[in-house]
Amino acid sequence: MAFNYEERFLYMEDVSIREISKKVPTPFFCYSKRALKENFDKFKKVFPKATICYAIKANSNIAVIKTLAACGAGADVVSGGELFLALKCGIPGSKIVYSGVGKTEKDISLAIQNEIKQINIESAEELEAVNQTAIRLCTRANIAIRINPEVDAHSHDKITTARVTDKFGILWPDALELYKKASNMSGVRIKGIAVHIGSQILDLKPFEETFKKLVKMVKELEKNDIVIENIDIGGGLGVVYKYKEDKPVRTEAFAKLVDKYLAPLKKHIIMEPGRKIVANAGILVSSVLYNKKSGRKDFLIIDAGMNDFMRPALYSAWHEILPVRDWNNRVMKKYDVVGPICESGDTFAKSRELPQLEHGELVAIMGAGAYGSSMGSTYNFRPLTAEVLVDGAKYKVVRKRQSYEDMIASQLDLLK
Ligand SMILES: *Cc1c(COP(=O)(O)O)cnc(C)c1O
Repeated sequence: MAFNYEERFLYMEDVSIREISKKVPTPFFCYSKRALKENFDKFKKVFPKATICYAIKANSNIAVIKTLAACGAGADVVSGGELFLALKCGIPGSKIVYSGVGKTEKDISLAIQNEIKQINIESAEELEAVNQTAIRLCTRANIAIRINPEVDAHSHDKITTARVTDKFGILWPDALELYKKASNMSGVRIKGIAVHIGSQILDLKPFEETFKKLVKMVKELEKNDIVIENIDIGGGLGVVYKYKEDKPVRTEAFAKLVDKYLAPLKKHIIMEPGRKIVANAGILVSSVLYNKKSGRKDFLIIDAGMNDFMRPALYSAWHEILPVRDWNNRVMKKYDVVGPICESGDTFAKSRELPQLEHGELVAIMGAGAYGSSMGSTYNFRPLTAEVLVDGAKYKVVRKRQSYEDMIASQLDLLK
């Protein structure tokens, strides 16, 4: 485990969170290098031949990406910026896949110039744009078509991506036509097929349904003389957020399913895990500012807000909140844990049982490694949060908190 209570205080690996907070003002994200590596290595172990493209949008800190790249990770990118970042972190184009419904011509050029493994096409017009761009660059672009297999991943509405009404991919009955079109284009090289059905999926069934459709599709393509090399099965594996309650799919069970359905096709497997690698490798550390009794409510006001960590506000996500000083012999209280932002949605937990916490005490919001910092904003003109990487008995600030001066620099220059 990356987390433990030792001598009454929360530790990440061999570093006391309280010790870090003496040097790094809260709020800050804190990641365990060991957990990142273990989580990635588990994928590598069960999928030894696959290309495992870490989904950069889950956590785009350079130290995190480099840690994973050193373990052999490729990258799944969904913007020109993420593509730039992946390349900067030393991930070769041959290990990068690029999805997203709104790629600009500039993004597409960057992808083609770096000969990435595949651009996952999400619409007919995009395919046309990729073809034209490649022709202009006197080359061919490696492409896959992201199909929408029309399965409901039964996750949160906002992170389910493969229902017939979702904006992603090509509806699977329409995919064959588009492949045929692509096979006649001089600027593209058909490499694969891709899916990504959603995120925080806790059940194998939607994956199974998807794989069945993938098999059908690949056979259909081959009947039409369209041969692909890669099957990109996306990401989406869920993690434990609520202790003792969430029962996520085990990576091994997922691998068995891939084996059962896709191995017989003898294609190269690409996968795009994000959350499963980083979510539980990270926490958000925050200090208690105030206890506020209001009517029958006890509010615990902390110094982290929805701008630092948006998941509770955006998805009503549950995150465990642990006191950094242990629970032993403490008076328990039911709190609404809230941040300082001027929005009622700036709430991390409602009626949560916690020990009574005083001004200055630390809390850790658990499972904050994925879609935490990468979704951060400067709303209420709050600086982007600092990030810390723990490695054994050492730790390092891997992103400084923005200063107010940093925050105004891009505007101030223009007013001179
Ligand atoms: C977000 C995303 C992922 C990663 O999803 P996780 O649930 O974090 O594993 C993978 N592929 C695509 C195309 C995505 O948009």
